[in-house]
Amino acid sequence: MEDCIFCKIADGKIPAAKVYEDNNIISFLDIMPANKGHCLVVPKKHYETLLDISDDDLKNLIITTKKIAKALSLSIGNGSFNLVMNNGKVAGQLVDHAHIHIIPRFKGDRLRLKWSHKKYVNKQMKEIQEKIKKFV
Ligand code: 5GP
Ligand code: ZN
Repeated sequence: MEDCIFCKIADGKIPAAKVYEDNNIISFLDIMPANKGHCLVVPKKHYETLLDISDDDLKNLIITTKKIAKALSLSIGNGSFNLVMNNGKVAGQLVDHAHIHIIPRFKGDRLRLKWSHKKYVNKQMKEIQEKIKKFV
């Protein structure tokens, strides 16, 4: 993908503060961090969202995410972190190359990742459950 910023980082065409790299996955610091140490974990191959990622690369991605989260926890962090993956524009995905955010959490950091809660009415919950199950 010629215009993809993460493809360019994966190809070494533009710089990034890399913390890990192997044949399939690269991890580097987010340039506009939610907290200091905020890392992105990215398959080198261009996939748009989670739904496009091959099972093999997905395994690599999540195993590497654990590796980086552990390194963050042992270095600048404390074992508390959020994993975030934005899939699709409506979900806030800005870079159309699938990636996982690891955001280290610090006491009193005032980062707001919690959402307000909605309610199901009547049989809605059961209906939605049944709809989803048909496609699994
Ligand atoms: P998204 O909203 O797509 O899940 O998040 C994309 C993330 O990529 C953002 O947090 C943004 O700060 C980060 N980002 C965008 N461009 C660059 C870049 O050129 N270098 C780095 N290191 N991070 C970037
Ligand atoms: Zn890409």
